[in-house]
Amino acid sequence: MEAAGSALGSAAHPLRVAVVGSGPSGFYAVEALLDSGRAVEVDLLERLPVPYGLVRFGVAPDHPKLKSVTATFDGIACDPRVRFFGNVGLGQEVDADRLAALYHAVIVATGADADRRLGIPGEDLPGVHAASDFVGWYNGKPECAGLQFDLSQEAVVVVGQGNVAIDVCRILAKPVDELRRTDITEHALDALAASRVREIHLVGRRGPVQAKWTPKELRELGVLPGWQPVIEPHALELDAASRSELDDPALAQAAKNLEILRGFAARPREALRPLFLHFQECPAALHGAGRLQEVVLEAQCLAGPPGAQVAVPTGRRRALSAGLLFRSVGYRSRALPGLPFDARQGTLPHRDGRVLAADGGVLPRWYVTGWIKRGPTGVIGTNRLDSVETVAALLQDLPALDAARPGRTALLATLEAAGHRVVSFEHWLAIEQAERERGQRLSKPAEKFVRVPDMLAAAHGGAAASPP
Ligand code: NAP
Repeated sequence: MEAAGSALGSAAHPLRVAVVGSGPSGFYAVEALLDSGRAVEVDLLERLPVPYGLVRFGVAPDHPKLKSVTATFDGIACDPRVRFFGNVGLGQEVDADRLAALYHAVIVATGADADRRLGIPGEDLPGVHAASDFVGWYNGKPECAGLQFDLSQEAVVVVGQGNVAIDVCRILAKPVDELRRTDITEHALDALAASRVREIHLVGRRGPVQAKWTPKELRELGVLPGWQPVIEPHALELDAASRSELDDPALAQAAKNLEILRGFAARPREALRPLFLHFQECPAALHGAGRLQEVVLEAQCLAGPPGAQVAVPTGRRRALSAGLLFRSVGYRSRALPGLPFDARQGTLPHRDGRVLAADGGVLPRWYVTGWIKRGPTGVIGTNRLDSVETVAALLQDLPALDAARPGRTALLATLEAAGHRVVSFEHWLAIEQAERERGQRLSKPAEKFVRVPDMLAAAHGGAAASPP
């Protein structure tokens, strides 16, 4: 029983918070609550039976160091004040009104896993894909596991100048024997082993100084066995605004990128497969009889002041033969049932992490963090600061949040009454152990389950339905 009159956040009257989404921003929100100095009970809800969000389904399999952050997340999940509710989705097993009735506050941390479109003719032709689908496919995301990518095509176009575009190029080009040592899914390995891709075109609408990729990732394109980055010499000539951008200490990354690109351009052309880097070009139309055959690229010029130059179409077009195209032009969040959504920005409207209702006023008890709050930018660690900001706002609001809230016991009772199988963190550890054992048989760190029923079977001690 809670002592009447005790302050919310005291041992007698703990603050009960549900965090929805167990990617980086969700885990960092939990951590900020644990570090708040208040008595808290935090429940971490995840629609899938497995945690970590984009760390599991977004980070490239050949970048295992980036995934090591899961050790920190495991420490957070194992804190006795925290409980993991896997296989419980907002708007699926529990709706928004019910959550707000059970908890003092709810923090939405559902990220951004949908893709943005180019909005050009031919975008729905077979052979045209969202990079996010390809990434989800090789990383074993259940929704993407059954997708097919026609890797019998020799020429592939990847659109976008961000790190996801680089990940896609690298996975397409990397020797399969190197990928075999990672936790990439077997279905992707099989398809990549039979790949006939011989030529990759990485196409960006702005110049080398404005590209968003990071130097470490860009450098990796230069060390892919059997491949050579190819850049037209004139592509690295800079306009005056771009030259002045290079003087901005805040854009130090751009200078490093340019140095790497100049190194690529200076290499004598060898008899290797080309990975063309095209700048100031953008697909204007996609053509093909029944499937993608040709990408029409339109030259772009840069307009605007230094630091804010945008790509403007020039009308000059050329055609490129390609049978496969991945658009890697950014992620987008999905609207959640029962909550406001800014469809234009692709985010949940908020002020300092407090969710805003349609009339612009604060929606009591609702908070937001991570990519669904600020858009799909930054690295994993960026979410820590974001979640600290949101939790600070929540803690400021404590007097207004005070009420009787039953928290996890009532949530569990609701789910059990509906006959729903909740996946606890111990269950997840059983899934992870089973994935490691499957991996051992294939000399890989892990072979992920790619179907939810198989994850549930492993969670609850049953035999996996699908052998690796
Ligand atoms: P991103 O970094 O925002 O890059 C998106 C790219 O798409 C930009 O080059 C953008 O050009 C371009 N674009 C947008 N709309 C376009 C259009 N209509 N036509 C042509 N080009 C268009 O996004 P991302 O690559 O998806 O990455 C998301 C976040 O995850 C980033 O913060 C990234 O650093 C991070 N990430 C990190 C790693 C890593 O650390 N290894 C790996 C993967 C992802 P403009 O700049 O002109 O808008």
